[in-house]
Amino acid sequence: MFDSIKDARNLGITIAIGGMAIIAVVGTLMGYLLTRRLEILAVAAQRFAGGDLQTKAGLTGKDEVAEVGRAFDQMTAKIQEHIGIIETSNQRFALAVAGSNDGIWDWDIARDEAYFSPRWREMLEIEADDPTFQNKISTWFERIHADDYKMVRAAVDRVLLASDESLFLEHRLQKNTGKYIWVLMRGKVSRDSEGKAIRMSGSLSDITERKHQEVTIQHQAMHDSMTNLPNRLVLHERLRLALQEAEREQTSVAVLMMDLDRFKEINDTLGHHVGDSVLQEVAARLQNLVRKSDTVARFGGDEFAMVLPSVSTATAVSVINKILKAIEPTVIVDQHKLHIETSIGIALFPQHGQDPTALIKFADIAMYAAKRANSGYAIYDSTHDPHSADRLVLTANLRQAIEADELTVHYQPKIHLATGEVTGVEALVRWPHPTLGLLFPDTFIPLAERCGLINPLTFRVLEAAIQQHQRWLRDGLKLAIAINLSARTLQDLNFPTQVAASMQNFGIDSKYIEFEITETAIMADPVRALKVLTELNQMEIRLSIDDFGTGYSSLAYLQKLPVQAVKIDKSFVIDLISNPSNLAIVRSTLDLGHNLGLQVIAEGVEDRETYLMLKSLGCDMAQGYFFSHPAGAELIAQKIKLFSSDQHLPMREIRHA
Ligand code: C2E
Ligand code: MG
Ligand code: MG
Repeated sequence: MFDSIKDARNLGITIAIGGMAIIAVVGTLMGYLLTRRLEILAVAAQRFAGGDLQTKAGLTGKDEVAEVGRAFDQMTAKIQEHIGIIETSNQRFALAVAGSNDGIWDWDIARDEAYFSPRWREMLEIEADDPTFQNKISTWFERIHADDYKMVRAAVDRVLLASDESLFLEHRLQKNTGKYIWVLMRGKVSRDSEGKAIRMSGSLSDITERKHQEVTIQHQAMHDSMTNLPNRLVLHERLRLALQEAEREQTSVAVLMMDLDRFKEINDTLGHHVGDSVLQEVAARLQNLVRKSDTVARFGGDEFAMVLPSVSTATAVSVINKILKAIEPTVIVDQHKLHIETSIGIALFPQHGQDPTALIKFADIAMYAAKRANSGYAIYDSTHDPHSADRLVLTANLRQAIEADELTVHYQPKIHLATGEVTGVEALVRWPHPTLGLLFPDTFIPLAERCGLINPLTFRVLEAAIQQHQRWLRDGLKLAIAINLSARTLQDLNFPTQVAASMQNFGIDSKYIEFEITETAIMADPVRALKVLTELNQMEIRLSIDDFGTGYSSLAYLQKLPVQAVKIDKSFVIDLISNPSNLAIVRSTLDLGHNLGLQVIAEGVEDRETYLMLKSLGCDMAQGYFFSHPAGAELIAQKIKLFSSDQHLPMREIRHA
């Protein structure tokens, strides 16, 4: 029994050992198979992690390991598909960046890392290997123009602080060469879940050319292209600002309007290019003499305007004197030596006007008064107004009046002092205006000169005077007629031919015609004037220098001209008796004139003493209120007839019967 128990135990042990061995073998085998599949999976995962994105585990079967393997393979396939999409998108982006003219930038705000595309750097001429270049947003900020920096910073801050979602900024950036370019910076912000800005990116465009064009267009809109001076618009605006400031500071502002005398003649007779050069020269001279705070503008045509802030009347006048001095030297264009003169009007804030429009208008009115008075300049005075307020209307009226032959001519006798004879009269134009009454030449001759009406006017006067001469002739009065010529007429090379035609048309002998010309008219272009004068002289028309003494020329110079007489300006004659220096001038003009073989006429003889003084000085002829005011033809004829029969009766006492 014992043996069988022992055997049984042994058998049991053997069976147990055998069973264990079988289990061990089967377990080992199964463990081996499992480990192997897990190993395959691990290797695939390692390869994937190592960058082999196409790797696959390739496990088959139905167990869990195989399932994990298949999931892994699906995952890698999906990732690969996404990588493909990303790559295509990247390629497209790279193409877009490379092909676009814009630079691209991207700013990782948290890490303060920035990306600037090659084109971004190229725009700023930053070489690819530039050692100073940093991938930091400061690369942008450091290049911003000092004047734009604040504005850019503020705009960026607004985006960072969430008050703005995007950037749209025009500013200047400095290139590596030191030069600035204008750029348009666009940007969008990305925020985290709490709304904090984490990234900003966008584009950069070079808009330098457009900016320059804008600046040019703006400059053109604000400046006169010929003289490069600010235009009317700018002057108006500067004046507005100056007035605001003056009101605050309790100072005054002067507005000057300036117009070149007889400029239209230069333009019309010598051509626009000469006129343009004159304007440019005048503009340059004006600009040279004003302060930085002053504005000189071209108002159009030959008109300039100035705004002088913080000046007293006295200072404004001293500026005007500087201007007059600066304009004085002759302007040489081509071979023409041009003597430019100007008339300036001043209006002051606050005494004359409170707003820009009123001040400009008043300065204009004063300028017109200065022109009329030939005084160089005039300060606004309300009495200047009546005739000048509606200059435009007046111009239109004048044109109609000339066309409708509504101008009339008054005559003033010229007396031979030695004999008391009246052999000639001066024709002086008048305009009986329907509403303003009888207008004198000083009101409308400058207007006619400015508007190209002076030649038609001159011919109306000439022909009216010729016809009157012939009526007088039929009436037994042999009176020569003296006609005043303007500078423009004197520059018109066709004028002598037209005069010849008129003379022939009316059949007048040239010895009865005299032309009076002023020195300043000759000096506008002496070469041309000389041509015209020579031709008139060859037609045996008498020529005399009017208003002698008011210009700058010497008698010696004038003697070279084909003239026969000088008329001493009335300003020297009127107070001859009481003003010794005028007496001296008259005396020496008489001496010199006679030495040069010229006849000397004194105009503006207002009283007997002057008349007698002139007679004793040996003056040839006299003209003035003492003998007669200018008057209509009929009255003048009566006066002359009576005066011839009784020279003790001053003509001025004779009135219409
Ligand atoms: P002017 O040729 O020197 O003419 C003389 C001016 O002096 C005239 O003024 C005349 O009325 C004025 N006068 C004459 N005697 C006296 C006097 O004793 N005392 C004073 N204080 N004045 C006297 P008016 O008629 O007003 O003409 C002014 C200017 O207008 C003329 O000066 C002349 O330059 C210009 N003018 C007149 N008619 C014409 C014309 O038909 N064509 C052109 N281009 N100019 C003209
Ligand atoms: Mg005259
Ligand atoms: Mg005169």
